[in-house]
Amino acid sequence: MCGHGKLSDVQVHFFGGVLSGEHAARLLQHSANATSGSSAGNTSAEESSSAEEGAAVRGGSGRITRKRKAQTSFVSECALPTSKGLFRLRAYRHQGRKRHEPVVMVAGEAKGEGVHVRVHDQCQTSEVLGSQRCDCREQLDASLKHIQAHGGAVIYLQQEGRGIGLANKVAAYALQDGGLDTVDANRALGFGDDERSYECVPFILEDMGVSSVKLMTNNPFKVDSLRELGVNVLGNIPIVIPTNEHNAKYIQSKVQRMGHLIDSL
Ligand SMILES: [Zn+2]
Repeated sequence: MCGHGKLSDVQVHFFGGVLSGEHAARLLQHSANATSGSSAGNTSAEESSSAEEGAAVRGGSGRITRKRKAQTSFVSECALPTSKGLFRLRAYRHQGRKRHEPVVMVAGEAKGEGVHVRVHDQCQTSEVLGSQRCDCREQLDASLKHIQAHGGAVIYLQQEGRGIGLANKVAAYALQDGGLDTVDANRALGFGDDERSYECVPFILEDMGVSSVKLMTNNPFKVDSLRELGVNVLGNIPIVIPTNEHNAKYIQSKVQRMGHLIDSL
């Protein structure tokens, strides 16, 4: 089951602003490029790590060298009143290449076809400490407001720093302070451009009764990764966040070097 949405299915939707026709056209073109696979250069690290999980891995001789079964299990659900409204909070445990506890914020009827879903990666530096070096907190806030208005789910994964962990992320920031961009800093530390894994997501969606999604993301790599895992992604809903003086360079790097669909407005 590997659903591929048509370009006509791509929905351009904006949070708290109106996008000009030129920008909207460019967004659609970028989306078309992502759908046609022209962003494949960004996917190697994630695809290789995902392929290792839950499946037999073959060495150079074709011999099976190891087998690791990934498992995700539902734990519990509670009501969660927040400053953005009332959500349901669902908790899971995942055992795979990395153990973590995904949670899902749910608003409205999040079942069936075309559910609006954000797959969000933890960012303690911005979400807890208020860092302005990135726009993760703003993307999370915009996603939660969106699902309050339209229904949907935000799947929150404990993958700090594109999967390298908090301390390594600080080390990468230190290198960026010395002049490297976000991609080169991760490479200098010996990491891939992206070390995240989304292998728990198909289970969580199935568990919730979600059969297809419209993904809230600017990142074609995330769309590709989820489709590789069998998630039926009908299209993406871009998240447009104004930049600030601290994160403009970081966001520019995401656009220019990681294939993200939009730049700042
Ligand atoms: Zn962040």
